[in-house]
Amino acid sequence: MISISKLQFTYRDSPFSLQIPELNLAGGQSAVIVGPSGSGKTTLLHLMAGILSATGGEIIVGDTSIHKLNDVDRRLFRLLNIGLVFQDFQLIDYLNVLENVLLPCRLNPSISLTEDLRARAIALLTSAGIQSLQNRSVTRLSQGERQRVAICRALLLSPKLVLADEPTGNLDPATTQRIVQLLLQETSRSNASLVMVTHDHSLLPSFDRVIPFEPFVYGTHSAQSPSGVDS
Ligand code: ADP
Ligand code: MG
Repeated sequence: MISISKLQFTYRDSPFSLQIPELNLAGGQSAVIVGPSGSGKTTLLHLMAGILSATGGEIIVGDTSIHKLNDVDRRLFRLLNIGLVFQDFQLIDYLNVLENVLLPCRLNPSISLTEDLRARAIALLTSAGIQSLQNRSVTRLSQGERQRVAICRALLLSPKLVLADEPTGNLDPATTQRIVQLLLQETSRSNASLVMVTHDHSLLPSFDRVIPFEPFVYGTHSAQSPSGVDS
């Protein structure tokens, strides 16, 4: 469902570089990325989502080579096929909880807001334990509640690829377990691939694959390849 080959990336104004020779994840499979701050975990998720453009190599999601799409098509492809939980959530402050979860319908003219979708949004909020907050402004939520809204929004359209950047960073251990199980169950049910970043090593056994990222050392120009990828 996601296939990476010979991926290379550098930021224009930073010495950081990322190289991934090969990484394949089938539908229904889950992978977790662990590694220190600054090692490139968020960068890889943004490359997988087509938010950043690769400097070399290829990323195929389903059967689409995402970096070959033009900007408009890539954005549409992302809206329909990729669920993203950003590290900073990226909720819309002037919308309430339910409206934030339903945002993918507003952003994508090809999806109409049906009663079924509204019911799914509420079911996801219930599974995440925040159904009672559905009419509340997201500006009046705790960090952990905001995080759960972002997770429900990412799962709404049952995307084929779910990318979650430290989605349990602000949650207590019990809620963390609940949220990780929600992500795993939802992606398994829709035969989607899940890639999650975490610092919580107690979560690793729940995933099919563990991808450890090595610290990036500035001042060297050596290739950096996260270990644990297929090569
Ligand atoms: P992680 O998520 O593992 O903490 P990131 O992927 O956010 O790491 O960042 C990897 C490195 O890339 C960081 O050390 C940072 O200096 C650099 N970096 C991140 N975002 C940018 C950017 N927009 N422009 C330039 N450099 C960046
Ligand atoms: Mg990060």
